Amino acid sequence: MSADETSFMKSLFHGLIEENLVFPYPEMDPEEKETVAMIVDNLHKFAESEVDAAKIDREHQIPSELLDKMKEMGLFGLTIPEKYGGLGLSASAYARVIQEVASIDGSLAVTIGAHQSIGLKAILLFGTDAQKQKYLPKLATGEKVAAFALTEPGAGSDAASITTRAELSDDGQSYILNGSKIWITNGGFADVFTVFARTSAADPGVKPRITALIVERGEGLTNGPSEEKMGIRGSSTTEIFFEDVKVPVENVLHEAGRGFKVAMEVLNSGRLGLASGCVGMSKKLIKMSTERVQERSAFGRPIGQFGMIKDKVARMAAETYALESMTYLTTGLIDEGVHDYSLESAICKVYGSETLWSVVNETLQIAAGIGYMSEYPYERMMRDARINMIFEGTNEILRAFIALSGMQSPGKHLAEVAKAMREPIKGFGLLSDYVVGKARSLVTRERVERVHPILAGESAVFEEYAAMLAQRVEQTLRKHGRDIAEMQFVQKRIAEAAIDLYALAAVLSRTTRAIERKGEKGAEREIHLTVAFRRLAEPRLRDRLGEMERDADELLKEIAAQTYKDGGYPFDVI
Ligand SMILES: Cc1cc2nc3c(=O)[nH]c(=O)nc-3n(C[C@H](O)[C@H](O)[C@H](O)COP(=O)(O)OP(=O)(O)OC[C@H]3O[C@@H](n4cnc5c(N)ncnc54)[C@H](O)[C@@H]3O)c2cc1C
Repeated sequence: MSADETSFMKSLFHGLIEENLVFPYPEMDPEEKETVAMIVDNLHKFAESEVDAAKIDREHQIPSELLDKMKEMGLFGLTIPEKYGGLGLSASAYARVIQEVASIDGSLAVTIGAHQSIGLKAILLFGTDAQKQKYLPKLATGEKVAAFALTEPGAGSDAASITTRAELSDDGQSYILNGSKIWITNGGFADVFTVFARTSAADPGVKPRITALIVERGEGLTNGPSEEKMGIRGSSTTEIFFEDVKVPVENVLHEAGRGFKVAMEVLNSGRLGLASGCVGMSKKLIKMSTERVQERSAFGRPIGQFGMIKDKVARMAAETYALESMTYLTTGLIDEGVHDYSLESAICKVYGSETLWSVVNETLQIAAGIGYMSEYPYERMMRDARINMIFEGTNEILRAFIALSGMQSPGKHLAEVAKAMREPIKGFGLLSDYVVGKARSLVTRERVERVHPILAGESAVFEEYAAMLAQRVEQTLRKHGRDIAEMQFVQKRIAEAAIDLYALAAVLSRTTRAIERKGEKGAEREIHLTVAFRRLAEPRLRDRLGEMERDADELLKEIAAQTYKDGGYPFDVI
């Protein structure tokens, strides 16, 4: 099985540990490392001398001189190949730069992330040569800015139900676009939009399908005012209106009617940009905590000497190590040519946004009173961090996606069984008892061979729960078949177990590499973080993979139903 044909996590759902995909831990090419180090260094100088994050937040705007400076630094063309005027960075290098930008300011990261991670990504992934020639050079310099326009007032998580229409003109040369989009990042000033709209099929009996179009700002395209937001206030978020906007047919991305695939592929990679931003912010917050615990004294001692504060700082470090490890493991997979990283990137997005949320919360708690004051950066960073659990797929939608996609993918083994039955697996409905039964016989406890022996205990935990995940998945599929699609309490547990398993695999691989490079003594800190992360993850895994269906779920459903019926919380003490 070649690396580009399989997914580590999809295989894991069937009990198969494809360790060749995650060992050795990927490393950036040395030359590229130097380029990134230079960009990071320039970013630091830029941040110190020119960026006032509090002002950006207060004035709800990024000064245009700052954006111009970022354009000059090449930050708008990071992922665009050199032949189109960009820096042509790998996925890992791009993530590392976004990490740094996010540590400086959330609004800056969201602005350049919306431009590259999602705005122009479809042109990179699906554009024809002519489309690339036409758009990428100006997007690379930042002369033109890109945006991604999917969400509509009636279609957020349920993106497939968008209603914006693109009707083919009578001469068949263009589409006429009508409709509107909401909450579009960079909407106030973007020049090039990747827009998703319904186009009619040649057959009038066929429901219009979603098509991705490159749409330039021009006649008929307008935007609403900037939305007032909780955080990332310097980023532009607006409504976009299309009124008879003429879009040439050559601006279709991929194929007419295949726009949903385009959107999903773009978001798969966009989620890694988001996760790397969460790495950057988390690291910055840990630094702020570290400084604060030494500066602030209570009861005659620096607060860092109290056990409860140490506990917070150590947990933040261990969870951030896991986040950083899984993010760069995934970008490394992309750089090695792995095509299917949809589960892994969704995992990085959920784990990244929730790790950051817990890190920002604990950092604010350590800062306590000053943490709550707007004069200090903590509350702004908390407001900035919050969006990550909402956009690019809410964490609920992504939990469902992780569980269902992991369960649906039968991996190579099931595909072969299915092929033998001449029945392609397209959905749960086709997972016959026979196929599922076959899967069961294939599920055996696999071993990880490449982990350094000093981490044998951690590796055993990974193996045990990887096997248990596969067993639980198989049992659940046998019992419920396609009904699993409606069982969100179970999906949540399966997704959370998958997240912790991917995190464990990532830290095992990374720390093994560190030991091989630096020896046990040299890699002592990585080993400590790995052991600490395993200790945090193990009880969660035990809980999630215990009983799949629980009486408590029924109780919670009943309570929710009653609360809906009561119109809220019904009790009072008077
Ligand atoms: C600041 C900001 C910037 C944005 N930028 C962009 C952009 O550049 N381009 C773009 O296209 N969009 C953008 N969005 C839109 C964003 O992607 C959506 O807000 C997001 O997808 C969620 O949609 P919604 O807000 O309509 O929530 P809803 O879909 O209404 O969901 C409401 C709640 O229900 C939950 N829910 C919904 N369906 C299910 C389900 N099946 N199972 C379980 N729970 C469910 C959700 O998780 C959520 O908690 C942006 C949003 C914001 C706030």
